[in-house]
Parts: sequence; structure tokens; C-alpha cells
Amino acid sequence: MVLTKDATLLPKDEKLIIEEFLHNPCVVRMSVDRPNVRLEISHYSPPSGLEGSMDWVESWSEAIKRIIGTFNGQLAIVYFSYAREANAACSAISSLGVKAVAFTGECSSLDKNHIHAAMRNGEIEILCATTAYGCGLNLPDVRCVVRFGLPKNMSSWMQEQGRAGRDGKPARAVILLNEKYDINRCVFWLDGSSDGDKKSMLTNFVDVLKYAYSGFSGLCLRKFQVEYFGESLPQGDAQNCCQSCDDQSFQDASG
Ligand SMILES: [Zn+2]
Repeated sequence: MVLTKDATLLPKDEKLIIEEFLHNPCVVRMSVDRPNVRLEISHYSPPSGLEGSMDWVESWSEAIKRIIGTFNGQLAIVYFSYAREANAACSAISSLGVKAVAFTGECSSLDKNHIHAAMRNGEIEILCATTAYGCGLNLPDVRCVVRFGLPKNMSSWMQEQGRAGRDGKPARAVILLNEKYDINRCVFWLDGSSDGDKKSMLTNFVDVLKYAYSGFSGLCLRKFQVEYFGESLPQGDAQNCCQSCDDQSFQDASG
């Protein structure tokens, strides 16, 4: 007997695994839908002359604080692709009077234990994390997850937004994007990957771009997301759905 599990397996990959490796399996699939988590996309344009510099990252911190500010002291996680970005943003956010800490692969086990304890005690408002975050801490009351730049793929975005609203109360999951930054980053990743990985990496990037632009086009982000993972959108519980499904048009986070 073999037990295999995955938090965000795509339907095509599930089919492949069943056909190739399993005989007459019992498949248990839970929904990826989280109706209490509002999905948002926010475009950000950096101030002129700051593009590509670490000052630019610091300028994003104002936009991040504006997004998170509606929660006034409640816990939020901001995800970054690189530790240097998480550290720079953490310093900038701290300078705005917000209790922030960086949580990256550069942290020692002791650092992480201290951060875990501080989070449980309510001593931290914003965790600036890379995807190294995920070391067994299960906090129910994260009210907002922000993604600095597009995620590498929809599965990683699902994993990151899965940190929000585990207590079932209203929460938000926001991607903050800038096309120039994101396309440059994708090109950098493609240049550094093997030929075999390039195609899937590019496909994944196009998928997250489609997700983002469905939001900018007024289409339901939640519908896109659940259908991407092979489900249908449940009817009648769209009160906290996404920016496209309420009366607020999306706002440019550059203010
Ligand atoms: Zn929606």
C-alpha cells in the first residue's frame, strides 16, 4: 500500500500519477476554494528612476503598507522571491513604524524559534518571508498575504495564500505586480534553467499572468483559480470573493 498526498496537484498531474504509478487507487480530493479569502491583484508603478534598484524595493514598502494598513496591527505575511528583497523591505517597513521581521533561508534555527515565539505573542505585524517560510508554524489569524511580484506558478500561489484566514474569518490574498519587474525576473530564471525546464517554467509564468490579467479585466479571480485546479465555483457565497466581484474597481497601489 502506498499513501501519496499533495496540497495543490493539478488535474493533469494527478491523472499522470494515477495512470503511471497507481493501480485502482482511492482518491480523496479536498477543495482548493477558500471562500473567506478575498483575492486581489494590484498594479504598482515605481517612482521614476528607481526601477531595478534596491531603492525601488524600498519604495514598494509604502505600497505594501497601504495594502495591509486596513488591518491595523493584525498579522500579515509578505512573500518575496529573494532574501535580499525581503530584508530590504523589512527594513523599510520597520522605518514606517510597523513591527516587521524578515524570515528567510538566511535565518538560523534559533532566529526562527524566536520569530515563531514573537508571532504567537502578537509582537510582529508583518513577516517579510521568502518561500523558506513554512517550517511548521500554523497561525490561524493571518489576515493578509501579499505576494511581491508574480509567483512562479499557480500552485505556489495557492500554497502562499493558504496561510491567510485559517480561522475562517475574512482575510485577503494580494499579488502586487509590475510587468517590467516580473518579466525581467522571468527572463533571469529562464536564462538560469535547463532546456528541459524552460518550457514548463514559461507555461507556468503565462498561467499566472493570465490569472493576474483576468483580475484587471474584471473577471472573477476565484473562478479562474478553482477552475485551474479542476473544480467549479460554488454558487452563492461570493461576498468576500475578489476585486472583480464587488463594487470596488482595482486600485493602483502606487497611490
Ligand atoms: Zn470573484
